Amino acid sequence: MKKDQKRRLIEDVSANVSKFHNYGTGIFVCPTCLVKIPINEIGKVTEAHTLPKAAGFSEATLLCKKCNSNFGARQDKWLGEFLNAFTPGKPFDLSKVSQAGHFIVDGVKINGKWSYSEKEGLKIFAYDNRNSPALMSKMEEKWGKKPEKISLSLPIPLSGKQDDVNIGFITAAYLGWFSLFGYSWVFQKHLDPIRKLIRGEIEKEKARQYILYSNEINLKPWIGLIKYKGEVLPAFGVSGTTVILPPKYAPSVADIGEVSGRRLHSRDLQPITNSRKSNNYPPLIIVGSGKLIVCPDNLMWIKEKPLAIVVDESGRVQMGYPVTSEEYDKRIKEGNVREHSFEAD
Ligand SMILES: [Zn+2]
Repeated sequence: MKKDQKRRLIEDVSANVSKFHNYGTGIFVCPTCLVKIPINEIGKVTEAHTLPKAAGFSEATLLCKKCNSNFGARQDKWLGEFLNAFTPGKPFDLSKVSQAGHFIVDGVKINGKWSYSEKEGLKIFAYDNRNSPALMSKMEEKWGKKPEKISLSLPIPLSGKQDDVNIGFITAAYLGWFSLFGYSWVFQKHLDPIRKLIRGEIEKEKARQYILYSNEINLKPWIGLIKYKGEVLPAFGVSGTTVILPPKYAPSVADIGEVSGRRLHSRDLQPITNSRKSNNYPPLIIVGSGKLIVCPDNLMWIKEKPLAIVVDESGRVQMGYPVTSEEYDKRIKEGNVREHSFEAD
């Protein structure tokens, strides 16, 4: 992104902040750690990709420098590798994954590496200096005469990084919603556990409760609502992985029950498309199937009247009627939503 382009984006995003808080004008709030940064300190704000650029995605948003470099090191690599290797509709791509430093032939662990190309096929190499002399001579004897059949297993370290991959997906989901709906999404206290997970402050295993898999869904990255166990949840998906996030009316996904490993169908998804070009819009509440999905905290403190976005049963989005304080109170009550006072650090 060019520097003046980045400045315009920061100005646009910070104008959205000023609709919620009296921080003064020209303040950017990092969506994942909520730190406030004056926009004249442009160097502290960085462009982030909601899905790794390495995997060919280009959706960009803004983060503080600290959060951005943190994600790069911890999750981006694994998520990028995962998405590269598991392209929907294509065979698993061996050339795009890391190696474990060993492989297993007929049940015998051999230290070495392998290479794969369409032209040359699969080649395996054993390291002279990292296998015992006894093993080396056994290999010579057993496999030197080109046996008809051998069984080969190539461990891929990626599988041990599933929690990092999951957190990468959750980060993409959270930032995807931010890029669509701005601080109306971020200024919700009940998303603190998601932010902590993204920042690596709670156990990685917790990420699993937000992830659903389905072999039946092979979609490009999408953002929208998902129906699951009679609930309507904000979601994000790419290929067969779907991330569900807590809605305002049921702030803890744990209320909905154990979700991991459950199958989903395309008919359960309602992708939302939002064609707005600017981030500078009024506070929004999002209503789906009559339930309060997104609603920034302390809404009625805001000078500007919030707009309701209604997602109907067929997934169509109607945008635009101003929410009255009566409707707001009614929805908060119906959803048993506790109001939080939201304060960024
Ligand atoms: Zn941050």
